[in-house]
Amino acid sequence: MKGACLCGNVEFEIQKDSLKLYQCHCKLCRIQSGTFSNWATIIPNEKFQFLKGEKHIKSWVKDTGFRADFCRDCGASVPNPLRNSPYYWIPAGTLDESVKAKVVSHIFMGSKSPWEGDSQEVNVYEEFPGFEKHIACLNG
Ligand SMILES: [Zn+2]
Ligand SMILES: [Zn+2]
Repeated sequence: MKGACLCGNVEFEIQKDSLKLYQCHCKLCRIQSGTFSNWATIIPNEKFQFLKGEKHIKSWVKDTGFRADFCRDCGASVPNPLRNSPYYWIPAGTLDESVKAKVVSHIFMGSKSPWEGDSQEVNVYEEFPGFEKHIACLNG
């Protein structure tokens, strides 16, 4: 299976037929992903390879070791080597839409966002409802 950043400058490939994902709800992952959790997986190095664009990747490393790699051109999260382990961290949203995957764990639930799961009574649209309607819904 393959994956890529938004602009397509970074592409990678994983030698697996299906993936088990986790969601991390820690504050760092919330900020990095811009939403309530990071959806990701971790796979052995030998199952992963970049196809192109490694020179387009920028890396930010916190003193605790938390690392965020992203495409310098479009800002999308991209896979990164997991500290000093023989594994790669893979952000699930970058993967092909045909990928077979399921969530098997949630971690750092104690840090979850107060608005997470608050989606009982909402407007649901199969596609974009249109700019005017969307803005009115969010600012009404
Ligand atoms: Zn990019
Ligand atoms: Zn996290």
